[in-house]
Amino acid sequence: MASINDLFAHNRAWAAQMERERPGFFSSLVKQQKPKYMWIGCSDSRVPANQITGLDPGEVFVHRNVANVVVHSDLNALSTVQFAVEMLKVEHIMIVGHYGCGGVMAALHGERIGLADNWIRHIQDVRDRHRGILENIAPEKRPDALVDLNVIEQVVNLCVSTVMVDAWAKNQKVSIHGWAFGVHDGLLQDLGMTVNSTDSIEPVYRAAVEGVIAARS
Ligand SMILES: [Zn+2]
Repeated sequence: MASINDLFAHNRAWAAQMERERPGFFSSLVKQQKPKYMWIGCSDSRVPANQITGLDPGEVFVHRNVANVVVHSDLNALSTVQFAVEMLKVEHIMIVGHYGCGGVMAALHGERIGLADNWIRHIQDVRDRHRGILENIAPEKRPDALVDLNVIEQVVNLCVSTVMVDAWAKNQKVSIHGWAFGVHDGLLQDLGMTVNSTDSIEPVYRAAVEGVIAARS
């Protein structure tokens, strides 16, 4: 396991390598960030946004929390989204869940963890909303199904936020995507939950939920 000193050594080696391979990389970063993408993902250490997507520093604006949840009273997440949409003018926001998510597993099984129980309650709301679907899916497939359903519901939460309602009312081009990452194979799955306007939320949502039922049954 790397020690703290190793982290600084790795950092110096990385910075030197970047400057060697792409002279001027850091001086161009200083001028501005102009990312096209925003990533809302889980805090889980196995799901690093830049590495998975092959994006450089400066190319993806990131917000992460336990189980990639968008909560309407969470000023941290909403402020980040507002900055991304109104100032940076990102064109795509992806909400990315991952299979084997501890937060989703705890929600599915009603496990008590501690303070995070209150946060995970939001995912239990998703579980309860889709109880009928989950009961018709084999128990071993339910965790993955709830990961997918959680992403789909969080996309809806983001789509109906004041930031997105206002952006789309002004015809700003921003797409919200729902993805899931496979820790076991390193691959991203598109859950078919891509929304480009307030009007398209409902039909896209219904099709995406049907997609989960079809994929997990
Ligand atoms: Zn997670």
